[in-house]
Amino acid sequence: MISRSAAAKARNVHVLSRALSSRAASVLNALDIPTAKEVPGVYDGTWTGSGEVLESVCPTTGEVLARVQAASPHELQTALAKSREAYKFLRSVPAPRRGEILRQIREALAAKRDELGALISLEMGKIRTEGVGEVQEFVDIADYGVGLSRMMNGRVVASERPGHSILEVPNPLGVVAVLSAFNFPVAVYGWNLALAFAAGNATVWKPSPSTPLCSIAVTKIVSGVLERNGIPGAAASLVIGGKDVGEAIVENKSVDMVSFTGSEAVGRQVAKVVQGRFGKVLLELGGNNASIVMPDADLSLAVPAVFFGAVGTAGQRCTSTRRLYLHRDIAPSFLSRLLSLYKSLGPGDPLAPATLLGPLHTRAAVGIYSSAIERLRASGAELLCGAAPYATGELPGALHGGNWVRPTVAVPTKVDLEHDVWRTETFAPVLCVGVFDELEEAIEWNNGVPQGLSSSLWTRDVRNVGKWIGPAGSDCGIVNVNVGTSGAEIGAAFGGNKSTGWGRESGGDAWKQYVRWSACTLNFSDDAPLAQGVSFAPTA
Ligand code: NAD
Repeated sequence: MISRSAAAKARNVHVLSRALSSRAASVLNALDIPTAKEVPGVYDGTWTGSGEVLESVCPTTGEVLARVQAASPHELQTALAKSREAYKFLRSVPAPRRGEILRQIREALAAKRDELGALISLEMGKIRTEGVGEVQEFVDIADYGVGLSRMMNGRVVASERPGHSILEVPNPLGVVAVLSAFNFPVAVYGWNLALAFAAGNATVWKPSPSTPLCSIAVTKIVSGVLERNGIPGAAASLVIGGKDVGEAIVENKSVDMVSFTGSEAVGRQVAKVVQGRFGKVLLELGGNNASIVMPDADLSLAVPAVFFGAVGTAGQRCTSTRRLYLHRDIAPSFLSRLLSLYKSLGPGDPLAPATLLGPLHTRAAVGIYSSAIERLRASGAELLCGAAPYATGELPGALHGGNWVRPTVAVPTKVDLEHDVWRTETFAPVLCVGVFDELEEAIEWNNGVPQGLSSSLWTRDVRNVGKWIGPAGSDCGIVNVNVGTSGAEIGAAFGGNKSTGWGRESGGDAWKQYVRWSACTLNFSDDAPLAQGVSFAPTA
């Protein structure tokens, strides 16, 4: 949650008026995040920050964790200029040497994995094991970047002209801005940093303004490694800020590529602005992901996977399962098993090992959840469980002030893909169920929404698998079989189609977007023939 202190305009240094809870203090102390006064939110080789003051608010308790001073317009411009200089330095550092620095970043992150994981849990609200898993994802992609640094190969292409050769050569792009969402406050930056850095680019990171402490902790770790290796700190700059800082980055012609992760609505604006100035843009936007369960599926695997997909991270993953299509033959038994898992859930401190259900990230998200429930109710849907936020009196005292909602399973009257309840991403634990008779019908439902991020089919029949992953199958970027929609490894390219933005990050060929490609024709011969046999010589 973010709130802007009016007093910030006076640029006074605030002191938090009350002591931090021991729960929060131990997490922040472990990462040397000062809380007695405002924390600088800009890094470009040195730490600064004199813009508006943002509050980092714990979604579990409502406690203000720290106040962070965002980038002023001037500080943003300075950071961008210093990042360009850092890029000029970095592009001349051999790629395998850049890989060696990434290896050190990987080691430094791994040494703080548990502490960073706890900070993610504290500030974003996901449960601890998911917080630690998110740091592991950064560690994994840094490993990948180390290998990549020796494998970013171009190609030699056969020329039609004698004594000629054609090379396809990758070179660094320049400055890559990483605009990230609140729900993966560490890993999304990691995906971008590892690939951009290996490829020789400087990055400027603008995280979500509601998770500033995660970005500060990560930047401290990364900058420490850069410093020890004599690399300018602005090779991995940080500019904390809200919409205004994001807009200024997106408009800035010196930013060669904008890698944007966030909502479809903001992504649409970002894409127009960046494409309007012919910059490169990579979009990772909203998901509205479906699981399809066939009658031959192993329900002992499918039920827990759907449960995790719909409820994990309190439904705040881009890959969360939001639609569940059940074959008529197994629908009653599947739902009764699923609902008994839902019944076992209760809200808890995400830092506590036994907790499965954390809070929503902001108070505003509780309103979005409630509106979605209202829409479902108004449409005549049957609400099988949940369907209301927790009232304060229903919560343990320690969780008062947090953003708590009940995970909900709803059965709308029909699968009407024109209706909002099916076609919009509600970033909360709300699962809509539809019943089908034929796989083809379920695939049509899977594909009939604007988004195209993740999808999952549960079956043991290889003929179904063939349909699902083939040309008439799922149109998503992630097409799983007997694996839920949520949770991907770094080895494959990650991203979605259609209104999810077509972007690909992480593994696969994603690195190829972080370079500029040149086709270089070299002539080693004593002639200079034109291609396609074109003759252009005076006849007389
Ligand atoms: P958001 O769109 O509100 O914000 C994303 C980022 O954009 C933030 O850093 C924000 O400050 C910035 N921003 C806001 N307005 C801007 C503007 N006009 N110009 C430039 N930047 C601007 O998203 P959120 O609420 O933080 O995150 C949730 C969304 O992100 C969900 O839709 C989720 O599906 C999506 N997401 C997608 C992926 C993916 O890989 N596809 C991963 C994580 C999250």
